Amino acid sequence: MLGKKLHFYNTAHRSKERFEPLHDPVSLYCCGPTVYNYAHIGNLRTYVFEDVLKRTLNAFGYNVKHVINITDVGHLTSDEDTGEDKMEKGAKREGKSVWDIAEHFTRTFIQDIASLNILPPDRWPKATDHIPQMIELVKKLEERGFTYTTSDGIYFDTEKFPSYTAFAGLDAENLRAGERVDMGEKRSVTDFALWKFSPGEGKRQMEWESPWGRGFPGWHIECSAMSLAYLPQPIDIHCGGADHIRVHHTNEIAQSEAATGKPFVRYWLHGEFLVFEKGKMAKSGDHFITMATLRQKGVAPLAYRMFCYTAHYRTPLSFSWEALASSAQSLANLRRLIGSLPSQSKASPPTTLQVAGALDPFYTALADDLNMPRAMAALWDIVRDDTLDAHLRRVCAEQADNVLGLELGRPPTETVQTVVGAEGEAMRLECATYVPIDLCNRLTALLSERRRARREKDYATADRIRQKLGAAGITVKDQPDGSTTVSIPAGVCTDSDRETLIFME
Ligand code: AMP
Ligand code: ZN
Repeated sequence: MLGKKLHFYNTAHRSKERFEPLHDPVSLYCCGPTVYNYAHIGNLRTYVFEDVLKRTLNAFGYNVKHVINITDVGHLTSDEDTGEDKMEKGAKREGKSVWDIAEHFTRTFIQDIASLNILPPDRWPKATDHIPQMIELVKKLEERGFTYTTSDGIYFDTEKFPSYTAFAGLDAENLRAGERVDMGEKRSVTDFALWKFSPGEGKRQMEWESPWGRGFPGWHIECSAMSLAYLPQPIDIHCGGADHIRVHHTNEIAQSEAATGKPFVRYWLHGEFLVFEKGKMAKSGDHFITMATLRQKGVAPLAYRMFCYTAHYRTPLSFSWEALASSAQSLANLRRLIGSLPSQSKASPPTTLQVAGALDPFYTALADDLNMPRAMAALWDIVRDDTLDAHLRRVCAEQADNVLGLELGRPPTETVQTVVGAEGEAMRLECATYVPIDLCNRLTALLSERRRARREKDYATADRIRQKLGAAGITVKDQPDGSTTVSIPAGVCTDSDRETLIFME
């Protein structure tokens, strides 16, 4: 990077700052999904931005320890601690247990982010696995005098934390005006639940004993407990969507700093929303587009990733099918152009310095608060620049792709689908065209069965499945890292491909 320094916009100070981490590896915490429904492509925009951040840190020589939590309890339908638990509501909607829907939507989330080439975090802590840590944190807050009890839970007293309004620049006067609105037994409108009591016998599927009675944790305490459990404080970077600034992150800061007496986070980065003309995309709204919706429409996941790069992460991005199609086209064009550049050098291969020199405008754009529209423009300029050696241009594109995650070396329309098997194992499907979802599910089931057979040393069954797939033209390759790659040529596993359908019965 030729000594370039990273700069990020820090929400805490409302300014762009030079990035100077305290820890090696850099500690990075990203608020994870509430697993009561599929992630929509708006949620996924935030995870793409966070992935670009992590890949940029890597490209600039930093190791990163990355944590994304799974919220599987306690996130209520209103951020102000009223309404139903989203998980219990989701379970009723699906007619399943809360644990079943948590498991199902966690798996599809992991599958979705894998399909977008989002690197998995080092840890995926689940809120329900960290109840003791949350109880400990609430106990500390109680000992330090920051809590009070109402008939429905233990609350954080925001009056006791004088800098409460600073982070989000909240207007204290306005907040007091809001106090006329019904706020139950809360002392201030900004106070929030740390622990909620179960409403009564048999009303909740998820509940735990605590020193204050049976109940469940508040959503905010989950992130404080899980980030502090795995990352050293102050955490270098904490991310999330911009909607979290006002309540969730403000509350995380208040309770974490009140409990530990130390600063919680150094750099706060927030991604703006993916929006429709009529407003934001929400899990409960009309415009509910998921990765499955994109697949059904034949849009490759990486085309969506490319689309995310058309706006800076701190500006809202307007969704339209036309704009998405244009990003898909532009990705195919970029791959075609790169594919036309020689993969071997006629003379000596370019030096590290030559590559870094040619990529300078690309890295400058990244270092300037992850300016992806500018970085993409810089990459196009490099690969089109006839004055540069053709092989050098290709090497530059390959290196830039470590940050972009667009698989720029693939043929223009070839694509990869990642499926998750019965025991959570990820398998990559390399496909010439899209595999419809029902075929994808059957294929996943067969591959899982083959894995189970191999593990149980039932090689006859494992071979039979491989042969069955082989006869349909599908090749299965076990990788040294334990993953499986499945190659599906053109014409196989398509909607009209009756042969494969029959084969996979
Ligand atoms: P949730 O599963 O609702 O807790 O949200 C997961 C992540 O997606 C959070 O970081 C949210 O801030 C973010 N998010 C929610 N809606 C959108 C949207 N329309 N565009 C971008 N990010 C969003
Ligand atoms: Zn969070």
